[in-house]
Order: sequence, then C-alpha cells, then structure tokens
Amino acid sequence: MKEKIRKVVVVGGGTAGWMSAALLKRVLGEQVAIELVESEQIGIVGVGEATIPPIQHVNAVLGLNEAEFLRETKSTIKLAIRFENWRKQGDSYYHTFGAPGKSQAFCHFHHFWTRAQQAGDSSSLWDYDLNYLCAEAGKFAKLKVDDPMWELHYAYHFDASLYGAFLRKYSEQRGVKRTEGLVEQVNIHPESGHVESLVLKSGKVIEGDFFVDCSGIRGLLIHKKLGTGYEDWGHWLPCDRAMAVPSERFEETLPYTRSIAHSAGWQWRIPLQHRNGNGLVYSSNHYSDEQAADILLNNLESKALTDPKIIPFRTGRTRKQWNRNVVAVGLSSGFLEPLESTSIYLIQSAIVRLIHLFPHAGVSSDLVDEYNRQSQREYELIRDFIILHYYLNERDDSQFWRDARNMDVPDRLTEKIGLFRSNGGLVQDQLDIFLEPSWLQVMLGQGVIPQDYHPIADSLTNAQLKEKLANTKKLKMEPLPKIPSHDQFLEMFCKAG
Ligand SMILES: Cc1cc2nc3c(=O)[nH]c(=O)nc-3n(C[C@H](O)[C@H](O)[C@H](O)COP(=O)(O)OP(=O)(O)OC[C@H]3O[C@@H](n4cnc5c(N)ncnc54)[C@H](O)[C@@H]3O)c2cc1C
Repeated sequence: MKEKIRKVVVVGGGTAGWMSAALLKRVLGEQVAIELVESEQIGIVGVGEATIPPIQHVNAVLGLNEAEFLRETKSTIKLAIRFENWRKQGDSYYHTFGAPGKSQAFCHFHHFWTRAQQAGDSSSLWDYDLNYLCAEAGKFAKLKVDDPMWELHYAYHFDASLYGAFLRKYSEQRGVKRTEGLVEQVNIHPESGHVESLVLKSGKVIEGDFFVDCSGIRGLLIHKKLGTGYEDWGHWLPCDRAMAVPSERFEETLPYTRSIAHSAGWQWRIPLQHRNGNGLVYSSNHYSDEQAADILLNNLESKALTDPKIIPFRTGRTRKQWNRNVVAVGLSSGFLEPLESTSIYLIQSAIVRLIHLFPHAGVSSDLVDEYNRQSQREYELIRDFIILHYYLNERDDSQFWRDARNMDVPDRLTEKIGLFRSNGGLVQDQLDIFLEPSWLQVMLGQGVIPQDYHPIADSLTNAQLKEKLANTKKLKMEPLPKIPSHDQFLEMFCKAG
C-alpha cells in the first residue's frame, strides 16, 4: 500500500525512543508530525551508558552544545575500553578509538612494527597510540591539530536516564508531542496489514501512518503484533543475562570503560561524573543469579547505591527490522551484549538509515528490502567482532572459556583471523563500524601474532626502521605533558561552556 507519510508515531521513551524522535524531528522538520507514546508504569532499561565516537555525529546534527551536554548528562570522556583477563587471567589490553603510529605508502604502521618485533624489538604497539597514552595517564583535552597523528578520538560515558531526559526536553521544545499511557491494543488495517492505530489503557486512540517500535525487548508492534521472526545467536554468544548496579563515584574518573572477564561472563565499570555504572554479563547455564550477585558485589570498588537489577536478554536480531509500516529501533530490533558499547550506535544507525530511505511517498518493497539488507549486514559484522573476543581466548579456568575457544565461528570471521595471522592483513567490510585499527587491537590483544608482514615494510633499512619507531613514539608522547587530567578537563570544560 502506498500512502503519503504525514505522521510518525514512536512507541517507547527509552534511549531508542527519544533518539528517534529527536533526530527525525530535527531532520524531517515540519514534513511529518511526530508523536511519542511512553508508559512510566513500564519504565526503561536505563543501562546503556557507554558509547562509541559516532555519537558525536548525533550531537552535531542535533546542534548540541558539548559542554551543556556533558553537564546535563553527567558525562565523562571515553577514549578506550580496557579488556582485563580476556586473553588469559592477569593479562590486559586496550581497544582504543585511536590508531597506532601512522600508515605509510599504503602500508599500515603495524607491519613496520611486526618487522621490528621479528628482529627483537620489544615495544608494545600501543606505545604508538595517543589514545592509549592518554587513557593510561588519565588525561584528556580537545586537541586542535592539523596532523591526524595527534588526533584524540573519543566518545562519552553518560547517565542513561539523564540522556533520555535531555533528549526529551530537546524534542518537546521542537514540537514532538509526548503522550503518557500504556498501549494495550494495536489495530491493523484489514487489507494492507499495516498498523493503523494504538489504543491506550485510558481508551485514547493514537493514529499514525508510520510507526517506530522502540518498546524495548518486548517489541510490542514488531513482535507481539506483527509476529516478525527472531534469529537467535546464543550458540555464538552464550551470555543471556545481565545484572546492573550503580556505585559511588571514585575520587579519580578514568577516561575509559573497564571490561573484566570472569569465569563465565564479564563485568563492566563505567565512570560517570556523579557515580559509577557497574554490571555483570553472564551465562545462566554457568552462574545462578545468587552467584552472579556475589561476583558483581564482591568486585565493586565503591559502595553500591541500590540493589542489583537483573536483565534477561536473548542475543540475536529481528529478522525484518522494517516490517510493513513498522521499523524496530533499539532493543526491539535485536540485542548484542554491550561488550563494545554498540547498541546506542545501532539506534543511531537505524534512524540515519530510516532517514535516508524514508518512505515519504509511502512504504514500498524496494525501500524495505534495502533497509533490511543493510541492517542485517551491520548486525552480523558487529556480532562477529564481539565473537572475536570470546573465541580468541587462552583461558583454561572454566568450561565456558574452553567452549568459546572451540566453537565454530562464522566463516567471514575465520577468514579475517586467518589473514591477520598469516601476514597481518586487515580487511574493511562495507557497513562495518569497526575499522582496521579496532580489528588489529583486539586480534593482537587476544594473542594473534602475525607470522609475516607486508613487503613494503622491507623498504627501510634496519637503521631507518629503528629510527621510524623511535621517532613515532617520541612524536606521540610530545603533547602529553600539556594535556590536563581527565577530571581537570571536565571541570574546566563544563564550567567554561
Ligand atoms: C545490560 C545492558 C547493558 C547495556 N549497556 C550498553 C552500553 O554500555 N552502551 C550501549 O550503547 N548500549 C548498551 N545497552 C543497550 C541500551 O541499554 C539500549 O540499547 C537502550 O537503552 C535502548 O533501549 P530501548 O529504548 O530500546 O528500550 P527501553 O529502555 O526498554 O525502553 C522501552 C520503552 O518502551 C515503553 N513501552 C514498552 N511497552 C509499552 C507499552 N505497552 N505502552 C507504552 N509504552 C511502552 C517503555 O515505557 C519505555 O519507555 C545495554 C543493554 C543492556 C541490557
């Protein structure tokens, strides 16, 4: 059915709902009316607090003032994730948003480094990455530089409920209509099968031409009403529960997320200006909720502020994220555990995709198919990147890790690991949010050492190679003394803005 889209109804007021409403309103303006329905009785998940750098595009499109954003959402800066005990107990590495060294003549820096390693050099690849150097030193500044060599790539940690409130205020000020109420019924057009209207508990009817289902894990429209199928990826990513608890803030806030592996899952630690976010992602086949609570609470480094909250989840994706006149955004579209903080990015990407393919003149199969093809690919690529962390482990302390090491992984992942292991080769798949430096850091951090390097790295003499590495390290270290501590930055920047 082709009908002009004049009104979009967003169902749900969590991170997905308010990001959708804010971005759609900002970009589509007066072309469509936007109404958001949410129920305070149900509430939000409220645990998505770590992001990746593309969040800055959202802020730029919305025209947000960064200092105000940091203040209002109690944000801190995120330069990296530090993975602890993932390869083996006692071992750690960073996945930073930066990149080591500087590429030369189509040859990534790590090939030169690999050649030097084979000749006996013992430096760490991360010594050549400014993001790492600042993360380790607890420093941050917004550097204005001409050379990408000194760029600091960053994202934010923020308080999810404050972020939602911030976007709600933004959206309402620009004309998004918010309706409080519990959706009890969804009406379908008898011929087209499209959603026509929602009926609230109060009896109020909300009509729309197009619906964005941001109702969270329950997927009120996409699953409950339209019965869209779900692809389960639990055989690759066996964690199926999370337990979250906030704790008191530390004296010093670190500019990175910590991810600490345990015998059947992992714990996150996210520093905010006013508190820490903590949680354990675990497999219910290996830990009872009581065991999980013991592990989480015994490993907090500051006093818990509430009782832990349990969040069951099912890893996978909704088969057709756009079905008829409904697009699922956020948890209703699928779930990948928060190991690489990708869910909020997936919300962003879904809305941007919807804006690109917006059915102004009505829903058509070419738009729907293209949307679904891209979303599927994007989900699969992130899934593979997360599997990588589990698969490349050398831990021998539990069956959980032995099983992860011995699983059959998707073919594309096998190819990528094989290529890197044989000659340090990295590939950039279209629609993969994780660029080559991300794959490099996780493969190396998880213990894959390239057996060979690109022949271009042989273009230098031994002395030139030594000098190149020494110079790169020196140049990367150069700005450090002038960069303030992360806490000093937050204080100065938030006040000044
Ligand atoms: C343990 C865990 C940790 C996470 N950590 C991160 C992270 O670090 N980084 C990251 O990017 N992402 C993270 N995420 C994901 C992130 O939390 C979610 O992507 C994000 O919060 C979006 O949730 P949502 O808006 O889809 O759903 P929800 O927050 O569940 O919101 C659902 C909304 O729908 C409304 N609703 C539902 N049913 C009805 C009804 N019948 N009538 C009216 N309204 C209704 C509710 O009131 C609510 O407003 C994490 C997720 C989990 C589970």
